Amino acid sequence: MRRLASHPRITAMDSFRTTVGGNTGTGPERWRRFRAEDRAGYDRLLVELKTRQYGLCCYCEIRLVQTAHELQPLAYQVEHFVPKSGEPENALDPDNVLLCCTGGARRELAVPHHDPRSHPNESCGQAKRESTPTNLGLPHPSTLPIAPPIVLFTSEGRVVAAPGQVAAPPQATLDRMLNVPRLIEARRSLLDILRDEIDRTVDGDLLTITEARLAPDEGQFLHSFWSVYRQVLGAFGESWMGAHHARILQVGVAPLDVNAVS
Ligand SMILES: [Zn+2]
Repeated sequence: MRRLASHPRITAMDSFRTTVGGNTGTGPERWRRFRAEDRAGYDRLLVELKTRQYGLCCYCEIRLVQTAHELQPLAYQVEHFVPKSGEPENALDPDNVLLCCTGGARRELAVPHHDPRSHPNESCGQAKRESTPTNLGLPHPSTLPIAPPIVLFTSEGRVVAAPGQVAAPPQATLDRMLNVPRLIEARRSLLDILRDEIDRTVDGDLLTITEARLAPDEGQFLHSFWSVYRQVLGAFGESWMGAHHARILQVGVAPLDVNAVS
């Protein structure tokens, strides 16, 4: 989980929200009508979300875009942070929608990190289901601090609350949403590779590794598990990113006040 930028503003649902279809009925009905009746709006929403999240799942940070910078078919879904089954207005609230992986729910998706064939493996929004963020103690990604991170990665690939971080979700929530075998194994393998790369660098020169792992690609999308790289590359990575990609670190960018937007 990394902090979510507040830009670009999500505007794709604005016009539909003011229509009869967008402001009557239950949340699921409003959402279903938006997808069915405003295809251009829905397509624009996907572009806005993938841009704002640098192509990563809002929770596990699996990369959801392909090399051509299009969303990987079947690999993503729009997540309602507060379930759309609650207050109807939540369904089309621009600050309540996030881009999320399919959480291991699609068995036909045999691409790295998504392959769900070793159940139980459901993660992210799929594991969250209809629980509310309040019940889970889950902070909205846009309210997370820039630094230090609220969660850390152990050498075994598990996600744990950072010491002293009161904003971190309870460990039970981290375990339920992020510590599933599929993701633990992917992170552990990545950590092993990265440590090996660092061990082999001459005189601790981390520049090449930092450029290859932390920098966005030419489409401005980040690598899967970006925060794992960020943790391992530590102060060097932080300093390099601050100098070259400060926008991604969101230095000087205030968190979005999710309660101030209707
Ligand atoms: Zn995910």
